[in-house]
Amino acid sequence: MRTYLDHNATAPLRPEAREAMLQALDAVGNPSSVHAEGRGARAILEEAREQVAALVGVRPSQVVFTSGATEANNWVLHAGWDAILVSGIEHDSVLAPARTFCREVIDLPAERSGVVRVDHVQAALAQRAGRSERVLLSLQLANNETGVIQPVAEAAALARELGVLVHSDAVQAVGRVPVDFEALGVDFLSLSAHKLGGPKGVGALILRDGLEIAPLIVGGGQERRRRSGTENVAGIAGFGAAAAAARRDLNEQQRIALLRDRLEREAIEIAPEAQVIGREATRLPNTTCLALAGASAETLVIRFDLAGVAVSAGAACSSGKVGASTVLAAMGLPDDLARSAIRVSLGWTTTERDIDAFLAAWSAIAGGQQHRAVA
Ligand code: PMP
Repeated sequence: MRTYLDHNATAPLRPEAREAMLQALDAVGNPSSVHAEGRGARAILEEAREQVAALVGVRPSQVVFTSGATEANNWVLHAGWDAILVSGIEHDSVLAPARTFCREVIDLPAERSGVVRVDHVQAALAQRAGRSERVLLSLQLANNETGVIQPVAEAAALARELGVLVHSDAVQAVGRVPVDFEALGVDFLSLSAHKLGGPKGVGALILRDGLEIAPLIVGGGQERRRRSGTENVAGIAGFGAAAAAARRDLNEQQRIALLRDRLEREAIEIAPEAQVIGREATRLPNTTCLALAGASAETLVIRFDLAGVAVSAGAACSSGKVGASTVLAAMGLPDDLARSAIRVSLGWTTTERDIDAFLAAWSAIAGGQQHRAVA
């Protein structure tokens, strides 16, 4: 019996999503075709668009389906900005396009707690004031490694006053905390289906009503000319069903927070020298980043895996690469502490039994200075 505690890498598919996908696979038509088969496929897309829109409080016309959040982030950051304000705690799918597509990237510092402070955003924005240029602020809603929630609404309000547009990567936040596009006051929001129990390889960019940016992918003009390519109907159907289930089950997050809090409390009792990174900040209910100075995160992950427990060393996308997490480095964590940090992320499948299994493994791996042997 395996214990899966890596929901931030990808969450298990929800039964509602599987069911919707199976049905959609039998839709014969191309959603752009005018005949009945085409209209049938189109109806599936539009229902999913409504479900995703409802999750973040927007109109369906503001939702553009993409191949995932990596594409959504690339699309926004590719749109011809003179300067982009961004922090080192962002996901690589924000940082890499910022560096690749933009002439000037302005670094926003992150605190040791993992928070990007609003006054630092304000100072960076003030330096741009009065210049006639296209500036974008990209600030994630919640971090994938620490779960720390960023002050996006406050930063967006400041940016708006200066005519700076705002993008937020909300991949890890949606379905775990309430997310309302209007209340955030942003212009672009990136979502990914597979973090909330939908399939991998589908996501969306939400755009402010009436705002258009140049498409990244051109061709047949699908998605109202904003994203070409025949739509991934089954994937989108699964995304819609997962979004509806995540919205319905948002209260479940209180249960998940209790499980996470128990895990942290007992993990520290077992290994008092362990630290919860980002604990001082407001965090997602499902994520914990545990550092055990002197240990190696890669070795810890392998030992947990052998014990039947799936956790990760930093972001799944960057594991396999040598070197400490860039997120933890941007928070100013000493290198040895950053290299010892594992991420444990819970979700809709998680039960007390999973926490028991994690703690039993943790006790064997990290209790009583055991980890000195795994450095
Ligand atoms: N942003 C964040 C914060 C993420 O955690 C991820 C997934 N690791 C992505 C973007 C990329 O999403 P996708 O897998 O849909 O491309």
